[in-house]
Amino acid sequence: MNINDHAINRVAAVTLGCKLNYSETSMILDELCKQGWTLSTIKEGAELIIIHTCAVTKQAEQKCRQKIRGIIRNNPSSRIAVIGCYAQLYPEVLSEINGIDAILGSNDKFDIPCYSKISKKTIHPPLVKVTPASTFDIVYPGYSLPASLSIERTRAFLKIQDGCDYGCSYCTIPLIRGVSRSIPAEQIVERASFLASSGYREIVLTGVNTGDYHYGNLGLCDLLRMLEKVNISRIRISSIEPDIVNDELIMLVAASKKIVPHFHIPLQSGSDRILKAMRRRYDTVLYRDKVLQSVERIEGCAVGADVMVGYPGETEEDFQLMYRFIELLPLAGLHVFSCSLRPGTTLARQVENRERKPVPPAEITRRHRELSELGRMKEAHFKSHFIGKECMVLFEASKLLANGIQQCSGYTRNYLRVLVESSDRLKLQAFRGKELPVMIDSLDDDLNLKGRVLS
Ligand code: SF4
Repeated sequence: MNINDHAINRVAAVTLGCKLNYSETSMILDELCKQGWTLSTIKEGAELIIIHTCAVTKQAEQKCRQKIRGIIRNNPSSRIAVIGCYAQLYPEVLSEINGIDAILGSNDKFDIPCYSKISKKTIHPPLVKVTPASTFDIVYPGYSLPASLSIERTRAFLKIQDGCDYGCSYCTIPLIRGVSRSIPAEQIVERASFLASSGYREIVLTGVNTGDYHYGNLGLCDLLRMLEKVNISRIRISSIEPDIVNDELIMLVAASKKIVPHFHIPLQSGSDRILKAMRRRYDTVLYRDKVLQSVERIEGCAVGADVMVGYPGETEEDFQLMYRFIELLPLAGLHVFSCSLRPGTTLARQVENRERKPVPPAEITRRHRELSELGRMKEAHFKSHFIGKECMVLFEASKLLANGIQQCSGYTRNYLRVLVESSDRLKLQAFRGKELPVMIDSLDDDLNLKGRVLS
């Protein structure tokens, strides 16, 4: 194949960050294909490479810069478009990186014709299109590519909402993605039906504040009821704020055959003093109540949580309060983050004005380690309940192990990863994309459940 034959319209993309970013990258690629571009991968070679960035933390930005520089170095003749959150927040920083040909912000990334105008910039500054997030009033869709075009063939991401009105003190997302806006329910249902008919078995609803879905007088529960009519096996909510988990939602999930018994509910801190400083919309009493209601009223419900350590002003007492609070909660796992000061946030101003004192890095490291260990204990405890039980597993990947054994992996409805192994390669490869009953036999050191398919 001579690259010049196809060089003009092959496009590849790399996505960093959240499920929302992945859904949007796929939508952009889908639209570019409709304009005559050919989907490719960086490995196969592409005339245009899109890098979808994340700026939720300093570490995320650093990762983006490394990825960008690496791609530029290895693909000198490709045009490079850097899009999304980092481009929205720091276009001037990205403009300094030689080899970037275009920088498109959070909404400008959806300007599909713009991609054809991107040319290889040797001396000139890159094409920069970054509209202020304060002006965002349109919400663009986001959805996985049709299963036939996608590596991932079982679980599809579907964007239902963008932006956020919550204004948590440490968060820069509203400054990057604007106010909360929801996609029309009919459009979401139509896209969900298309994804289901293209072969996906599970749809993961995603957004910035996914639970804050509102379209006209329709809320999240109304949308979920509409999606239950779609011919799909599973509907998963990617993440939901504590104040949005209410009786109506819990009863709907408890009674549903399709909406899976799994909530990811960000906690951030287990100290009411710190939750107040973070401007979160709940306290520990409310959070505990939502978790207990969910696990008591929804069979097999798994609740995972995000927690943050090192919030400026967090004392050892606050940390111990958080540790004990989480210890007593029936959580299925933790995502532990270290607080990262973000520009333009209330917290950054407070630290700058010495109203809040940063926590020493060594302390943050210790707290992160201790909470991560607690998270592992909670995960192991929750998963051990399923040993000896039968679970429905949607298999999505299989690989050949060094010892010649075939291994197939997938997730239960409450989002537990399960491995099945056998020397019968063909049999296991055929499991991909199927939801099958599995008897859970054990839990390995990596906290993977292991089992065997019940025929
Ligand atoms: S709820 Fe808070 S942390 Fe989450 S996106 Fe909105 S402002 Fe950020």
